[in-house]
Amino acid sequence: MIRADRVVTGIRELATLSVGPVPRIGPAMGQLGLLPDAAIGVRAGRIAWVGPERALSRSVALRPGGPRIDLEGSCVVPGFVDPHTHLLFAGDRHDEVAAKLSGASYAEIASGGGGLYATVRATRRASEAELLGSAADRLSRMARWGTTTAEVKTGYALTRAGERRLLGLIPRLERRTGLRLVATYLAAHAVPPELRGRADAYLDGLVAELPAIARAGRARFCDIFCEPGFFTLEQSDRLLRAARSAGLGLKIHADEFVASGGAELAARLGARSADHLSAAPRSAFRALAAAGVTAVLLPVTPFSAMSDLRSPGRELVEAGVPVAVGTDLSPNSWVEGMPLALAHAVYRGHLTPAEAITAGTVNAAHALELGGVAGQIAPGRDADLSAFKVRHAVEIPYRVGALPVAVYRRGRALFST
Ligand code: ZN
Repeated sequence: MIRADRVVTGIRELATLSVGPVPRIGPAMGQLGLLPDAAIGVRAGRIAWVGPERALSRSVALRPGGPRIDLEGSCVVPGFVDPHTHLLFAGDRHDEVAAKLSGASYAEIASGGGGLYATVRATRRASEAELLGSAADRLSRMARWGTTTAEVKTGYALTRAGERRLLGLIPRLERRTGLRLVATYLAAHAVPPELRGRADAYLDGLVAELPAIARAGRARFCDIFCEPGFFTLEQSDRLLRAARSAGLGLKIHADEFVASGGAELAARLGARSADHLSAAPRSAFRALAAAGVTAVLLPVTPFSAMSDLRSPGRELVEAGVPVAVGTDLSPNSWVEGMPLALAHAVYRGHLTPAEAITAGTVNAAHALELGGVAGQIAPGRDADLSAFKVRHAVEIPYRVGALPVAVYRRGRALFST
């Protein structure tokens, strides 16, 4: 008998995502490891047992008085892993929609001192309490949409001290909200307004800063915005090499607007992920596949930009690249719900609904070096679960913006109707 301190029953269909190697590539992305009429035993926040509900009583010894959570015929998937967010910011940019409607691009709005720079001004002015409060509100809504793990980037302070301040807020947010957070140092989000034209001088400071950030365990990853008007390929190469030497994992905002060699750079450096890729050339997909770099697609962002670009989901799966999907939550593209990103990955990125679930769970966990912890419902993994009132798990990305009825992190409800 396996001992459990709580059990979960009444699961019409369980998508375990537990079959096969991590990350999932090619046809394996469509395999969800489905189990009908399932139950789960949880001990100390981790999954202790998964199987058919009819085998529960002879397989699992529930601690006396331990809760039995009845999901009443819901379908259950692993708690979503959002592998790319710009969660920490102050203010909003609703006034930019008019500029977008008149055809202005992200880079044009930023070059006029608006866009990202408006958020930088607001974030620099904001108190820690304001930043923590607004980010915690966003995280609680992300959990309401089924997310239990999220990556959080810095990048709206653009000073060395300010970026360190943002990193310091992430563990506090984790304690406050109960979600698992992974910190990424994105001080190279843009050149600070006071250093216009002096990107290299700014990067000198960041390169000097990286070893201390890695030593303090404040960030797991370093990221850079490699795009014309922001940082060049050479500058991206330099910062990411320094980050790698310091022991940080690498991520890169690559080929979002134009093909600038970012995806190839990710492959050359063995980055953990190359993110966006809406303008990446097909030849780069082969390089990503050969290097085992995960593509993190952010399909809501071109939608919010009113752009004709799209996330090349189908093409990347066919090229053998492991594909993950995230929200890219930011004041430029304010989306908190992973089910919305997954629906866009289907209808615009042309993933199948099953592939989209893989991209938002096990492959997204891999993109955060959490492949052994999150994104799967299997013994030893954290008991992070999202339950939806649908007939089949694949209906979640098929419906645009499906909402869970309950969400559990380490076996405890973050949210429940
Ligand atoms: Zn981003």
